[in-house]
Amino acid sequence: MKPELSVVIPIYNEQAGLSQLFARLYPALDKLAQEGVSYEVVFVNDGSRDKSALILSDQFRLRPDVTRVVLFNGNYGQHMAILAGFQATRGDIVVTLDADLQNPPEEIGALVAKMREGFDYVGSIRRKRQDSMWRTYASRAMNHFREKITHIKITDQGNMLRAYGRNVIDLINQCSEMNTFVPALAYTFSRNPTEIIVGHEERAAGESKYSLYSLIRLNFDLMTGFSIMPLQLFSMLGMLLSAGSGLLVFLLLIRRFLLGAEAEGLFTLFAIAFFMMGVILFGIGLLGEYIGRIYQQVRGRPRFVVQTILEKNKESELDA
Ligand code: UDP
Ligand code: MG
Repeated sequence: MKPELSVVIPIYNEQAGLSQLFARLYPALDKLAQEGVSYEVVFVNDGSRDKSALILSDQFRLRPDVTRVVLFNGNYGQHMAILAGFQATRGDIVVTLDADLQNPPEEIGALVAKMREGFDYVGSIRRKRQDSMWRTYASRAMNHFREKITHIKITDQGNMLRAYGRNVIDLINQCSEMNTFVPALAYTFSRNPTEIIVGHEERAAGESKYSLYSLIRLNFDLMTGFSIMPLQLFSMLGMLLSAGSGLLVFLLLIRRFLLGAEAEGLFTLFAIAFFMMGVILFGIGLLGEYIGRIYQQVRGRPRFVVQTILEKNKESELDA
């Protein structure tokens, strides 16, 4: 039997907090089930080196009807874990959640209610963020920058409590890219996205799996995974520079004939050097244009998504 709701939770070294998670997640979902939302939970163990896998298999034995567990053989990262979870889901609505209880499981109901209004992507904005100061500010700045270059409108990118429709999940399952950022990928595939405000709590137990380095990496994935604008900027820069210095060469040449060489031709040399630099930059930019195209091709995302085709029913055609 297909459930209506699938909840996907990536898990990496979370043994300290899993029992608390179960103690809040299952009652919250059971309450929804009473209101008529059948559910399944898909845990993905992302190669934890602690007892997480063991605890998960115990939980599976307790609630086999609504629990599924995907075990990775190594650590592939939160977003790969979520993608593997997506492939295992069967529900029409798929909700992602962190295992550390920073996203209150009690909010799942609000996401489902919003999805039932006809949206196919429900993002969430944290009412009051419970992270350190520097992360709050850094992520606000990155949000702004990312929105400028990728045109993906996610108010609060650091928050994984989100709901996706089956249409979005099916498209994500067709993608084969290596480094990605699930909420952004989902956003590009959604027809009717919206956001709601949810609570946010401090990590219940254990510690954050993200170092400064992996946060920076994540943001590079976001920029370069969803836009080739950084590459294209080079062509723009090179074009401007070579046009500008081409003009300079021209002016100096005229000056040379009218007034004679300036400072023994030193500036002429500069102008020529600048011109060459402009040409080189432009060359890099051009390379970038092609690499960008290769990249988009290699990524193999669906090229377009047909929502529906209006046509005369084939069978009735046969009848006629
Ligand atoms: N996580 C994962 N694989 C990783 C890192 C993290 O599956 O390599 C999971 C982790 O167990 C948690 C979620 O991703 O459920 C978010 O991680 P964390 O809470 O450490 O991130 P933060 O809240 O600090 O951004
Ligand atoms: Mg967390």
